[in-house]
Amino acid sequence: MALAAADAERFTEFERASPEALGLLMLQADPHAGRLDRATQLAAVSDALADGIAAAGNLRARFPASGPEQIARELGLPVETTDDDPMVGSIWRFAEYRPRPPRIVLYRRGLSPLERVLTGSRAVQLLGEATPRDIFIAHELYHHIESTRPDVPIARRYQPTLFRIGNWHWRTGIAALAEIAAGAFAQALLELPCHPKALDFVVLHAIAVT
Ligand SMILES: [Zn+2]
Repeated sequence: MALAAADAERFTEFERASPEALGLLMLQADPHAGRLDRATQLAAVSDALADGIAAAGNLRARFPASGPEQIARELGLPVETTDDDPMVGSIWRFAEYRPRPPRIVLYRRGLSPLERVLTGSRAVQLLGEATPRDIFIAHELYHHIESTRPDVPIARRYQPTLFRIGNWHWRTGIAALAEIAAGAFAQALLELPCHPKALDFVVLHAIAVT
C-alpha cells in the first residue's frame, strides 16, 4: 500500500492513538454527542471501552480456545456473507448484526479492500494474528451480546436532552458508544495491536487509490 506522506503520518497517529483518544474521536463524530459536556464525554468513552473489554473477558472465559466464527456457531448465531454493495450513502459497510432473526452478515465486497492491502508485516502490525473477517465477526458478536442481555444498552446510558417543553424531555441515545464498545470488545477478544477503528482509514485509502 502506497501512502502519501501526510496520509502515512495520520495513519500512524491512528495506530498509535490510545483507545480513549480514538473513542473520543468516534464519540465527537456522533451528531448528538456535542450535547454532552467534556467530562461526561470522557466518562461515556471509558464506560463504553470498559463494557466492551468486560464482555470480551466473559466470552473468552466461556470459550477459551475458539475463534469468533466458532463462538458464533456455539451461540447458534449464523454468519452469512452477501455480495451486496457495501456503500450506502457515505457509509462503508464491513458487516452488520441483524436482530430478527439474529444473524451476522458480512459484506464480501466491503472486506475485500482490507484483505487486498493488508498483507505481510503491515497485516501483523494492524491485525496481529487475526483476519479482517475475524475482527468484524467479533465486532458484531458484541452487538448480539448487547441486544440479548438485560442491561440498559450502552448507547442509551448517556442520553442528552434534544429539547425540553415544560416537563416533557425528548431524549436520544448515542449510537457511537455501542461502536466504541464493539471495537474494544474485538480488540480484547482477539488481542489486536490497535483499536479496529484504524481499519476504516485503511479502507478509505484503498478505495481512494483504486
Ligand atoms: Zn457496530
